[in-house]
Amino acid sequence: MLNVRGLSVRYGRSVRALEDVDVEVGNGVLAVLGGNGAGKSTLLRTVSGTVRMHGGAVTSGEVLVDGTRVDQMDPAAIVRRGVVAVPEGRQVFARMTVEENLRAGGLGARSAAARASARARVHELFPVLVERARQRAGLLSGGEQQMLAIGRALMSGPRLLLLDEPSLGLAPQMVARIAAIVRDIHAQGTAVVLVEQNATMALQVADHAVALEVGRVALAGPASELAASDEVQRLYLGGHAESAEQAAAEAREAERQLSGRTLARWTS
Ligand code: ATP
Repeated sequence: MLNVRGLSVRYGRSVRALEDVDVEVGNGVLAVLGGNGAGKSTLLRTVSGTVRMHGGAVTSGEVLVDGTRVDQMDPAAIVRRGVVAVPEGRQVFARMTVEENLRAGGLGARSAAARASARARVHELFPVLVERARQRAGLLSGGEQQMLAIGRALMSGPRLLLLDEPSLGLAPQMVARIAAIVRDIHAQGTAVVLVEQNATMALQVADHAVALEVGRVALAGPASELAASDEVQRLYLGGHAESAEQAAAEAREAERQLSGRTLARWTS
């Protein structure tokens, strides 16, 4: 559904944030790995049409959604094509209630029926958002705000969800829950691009992965192959063998608690 071909992006004259990047997403989960400043957020901004708002410009290449070029479209037009981003930093409307945040996300839904169906899906994925419906979003915990940010994006019924570092700053158990939620979202038929510095988590959730280094694709392939490669172990998983095992156990437990309930309904 998403094809990024030969994409180069600059900020101003001097910062080359992406150089000749190729990325493809069918209907799976693609993990985008890389250290600080590698170009991960720039890739998501370009796909969602917001890179110009950050002072960036596409200098060559193209971004296609279902075969149509979107790299010069405005963000709202890209949302209408089913591509919705959750930017880094849990950007919820802090003074609005949880319910109002979700309603704002639903403004992009195709119809009232689609909105109602999306709301039911969000409530099943995130029961805590039902419990906290009338609470101000700014009073939620970090993990709950991340769930609200994802839930708000799901309210418009996206076919491709772009997640920028959803695990950032969260405790390990909450990271495991977010991982399980991403799996559920994918199992329900939404493709996902998952930008993460937490390579352990991302490679467990994704089926394919790319690693960016200083704006270029350094590695690409099936997530299981990348997770097993010496280079990825050294660069992105080094010294985390124990925590990787622990994260895997936590992810399995969180998924066991979450999935049975929601999957049956949404995969049918
Ligand atoms: P991080 O994990 O730290 O968020 P990243 O992989 O998401 O990093 P980007 O934020 O895409 O990387 O940044 C890629 C490069 O572009 C970096 O050199 C960064 O300093 C630069 N950059 C990012 N945003 C801007 C901007 N608005 N104006 C100028 N330069 C920018």
